[in-house]
Amino acid sequence: MEIKFEKNNNPKEKITDLNKLGFGKYFTDHMFVMDYSEGKGWHDPRIVPYGNICLDPSAVTFHYGQTVFEGLKAYKNDGKVYLFRPDENFKRMNMSNDRLCIPLLDEEFVLEALIKLIDIERDWVPDIPGASLYIRPFIIATSAFLGVKPGTEYKFIIILSPSGPYYKNGLEPVKIYVEDKYVRAVRGGMGMAKTGGNYAVSLKSQVEAEKSQYSQVLWLDGIERKYVEEVGAMNIFFVVGNKIITPELNGSILPGITRKSIIELLKIKGMDVEEKRISIDELVEAYDQGQLTEVFGTGTAAVISPVGELKYEDKIMKINKGEIGEISQDLYNTLTDIQWGKAEGPQGWSVEV
Ligand SMILES: *Cc1c(COP(=O)(O)O)cnc(C)c1O
Repeated sequence: MEIKFEKNNNPKEKITDLNKLGFGKYFTDHMFVMDYSEGKGWHDPRIVPYGNICLDPSAVTFHYGQTVFEGLKAYKNDGKVYLFRPDENFKRMNMSNDRLCIPLLDEEFVLEALIKLIDIERDWVPDIPGASLYIRPFIIATSAFLGVKPGTEYKFIIILSPSGPYYKNGLEPVKIYVEDKYVRAVRGGMGMAKTGGNYAVSLKSQVEAEKSQYSQVLWLDGIERKYVEEVGAMNIFFVVGNKIITPELNGSILPGITRKSIIELLKIKGMDVEEKRISIDELVEAYDQGQLTEVFGTGTAAVISPVGELKYEDKIMKINKGEIGEISQDLYNTLTDIQWGKAEGPQGWSVEV
């Protein structure tokens, strides 16, 4: 399929002020759009001026949440622009699509489309240390029909948002609490899909966490409320003794690409890393024995987010005196150097645009 290009003749002024940039507030001049209709498949791929989309009020996505999304970044260093494992994002998007009954994408084609879009918008990739161009591909069911069934028409869209550094003053440990009132997902549900519903379900918990001065919550499994799953938009790792452990993928955890990359990097570094079912009780026990030395989250936004405090019921656990652990810092440095094209990573991780 040929990708059509309609140039935006009213380009916006670029934001260069770091403090203004923030996250997800500004968007570039163009977006990629492609339609799907039953019988015709995905068609009419185009790069057009960024702008509103017009949908019928009865569109499926508004009522029944048939939608998926992805999140990745483009990094600029020395005038070159890099993507980090973008093939993994489209692979995961297709996994989400399958769960939500959304027609699958041609992964190679959408990657080609993304690269073309980034190439057009290359001047929008911030050239400031730590800042990047956040990329948000998503799909919505657009069929005008209130019946509960999969849509027959969809839109796949990619929008781009220049974003400031997640950390303005270097890595900063966060405080999180273990959620024992609400649950995010259950096995057999859609926890492993990147879809709006998983975020809608987490908002109330997030609001309550912030009210009590915690930045996020750590979810437990939705059935026994005993096993650790993940944090808001991050996967979670624990350093226990000389082992690094992370919850195994069980269908209710989002399979993070940062998670996967960290596991691979730890193996390359010769460290003892294991994916397994981890109960909150065993973590508390490890803490009491002085064995829980580091906790960190992993995700595209923060890369590595050290946890300085973990609260479970009435117990407050200070991790590594509330400071950044050695392993967290080292992983952050290693991974960000690869993402910014400053260090060579494993084959295929870094894709130059
Ligand atoms: C996106 C996401 C993650 C992190 O995935 P990355 O690919 O590492 O960015 C973790 N948990 C949830 C719920 C997510 O939506």
